[in-house]
Amino acid sequence: MLVSYKIGIVGGGQLAYMIIEECKKRGFETACLDETAEAPALKICDTPIVGKFSDVASLTKLCEACDVVTYEFENIDCNVIETLSKKYNIMQGHRPLFYSKNRIVEKNFALDNGLTPPKFEVVMDTDSLTKAVEYVGLPAVLKTCTMGYDGKGQMVLRKLADLENVPQDLLCDSILEQFIKFDFEVSCIVVRNKAGEIVHMPIGENIHKNGILDLCLVPPTKLSKVMEEKIITATYGFMARADFVGILAIEYFVVGEEFFFNEMAPRPHNSGHYSIEGCDVSQYGMLVDCLCGGTLRQPKVLQDTFMKNILGQDIGSLKNLKTNKNVHIHMYNKAEAKLNRKMGHVTFTNCKEDEFLQINKEIFGGTHE
Ligand code: AMP
Repeated sequence: MLVSYKIGIVGGGQLAYMIIEECKKRGFETACLDETAEAPALKICDTPIVGKFSDVASLTKLCEACDVVTYEFENIDCNVIETLSKKYNIMQGHRPLFYSKNRIVEKNFALDNGLTPPKFEVVMDTDSLTKAVEYVGLPAVLKTCTMGYDGKGQMVLRKLADLENVPQDLLCDSILEQFIKFDFEVSCIVVRNKAGEIVHMPIGENIHKNGILDLCLVPPTKLSKVMEEKIITATYGFMARADFVGILAIEYFVVGEEFFFNEMAPRPHNSGHYSIEGCDVSQYGMLVDCLCGGTLRQPKVLQDTFMKNILGQDIGSLKNLKTNKNVHIHMYNKAEAKLNRKMGHVTFTNCKEDEFLQINKEIFGGTHE
């Protein structure tokens, strides 16, 4: 492994921030590109670059400055990344971006590579929505194909009358998915290197509120060993068949002995934040190992660990949280606290699940029992 390494990141949000924290621990330099100088990661990296994500000159500057480049979000121009990958070391390349940008492309790709998404159909207009409802059935979820995240751009259709209330922007370039009455949700975060070796984050249970990740429980007491193995094996199989390199997080719905592909993201994932204190190797450690060509290490959970996301509306409650060495508060230094904006997270180590849920209820008004 090189003694000195410089890692570049497209995007300057909290994921880049935590990748940089990992790089700093190892003495690696970092460069980061974002559209605004206020982006959290730009304030702590060695070489901040302000420029449009679509601007070839800015991306080239980032690539020129670094030994290897990664990205922390999906909505980047794939064509530009494809072109730059031919000259520079953008380890993951453009393919994971391409296949995760559009929900139809993503779900077809998951199907082609051994995973099972909920039944789905393309929606382009009112007529295709009616046909999609006949095929998929109700209840169903109507989602925009692009730019939707954290439950944005989605509507649940429960009865035929709901079709009358679908907004215009959900009637073109959308997907109708079968509504899965899941028992719970999990994600599997893996890293695969160029030699085809794979490691994964221990799986946790993800609990969402209003479509946004709220809590992560590790270990996931509801997930049987058999199901855990099945999910990990399927995810490894998918990575190999897709021939993806780098980090990928896949979200699944678990129903009895079945599991359904929801979505994937070729970057560190919110559900893996717990690993900074909860594991011997964090998701950021796994990624940086891969980026710098180091040996991949299979992370292990050190103790029961729980994560709570801090959104704009939770900031005021933080002052009531009793801290001790097992309460780890991460704030992302974002300028403005807005409703539903991810401002930070708290990880609780060495804690029992019922204790954590009680704290969540008392301090943050959580309702999950
Ligand atoms: P997404 O942005 O697609 O990950 O959706 C956000 C959240 O909405 C998911 O984590 C689920 O809790 C819920 N959701 C999305 N799609 C479905 C579905 N097909 N069936 C049931 N719940 C869903």
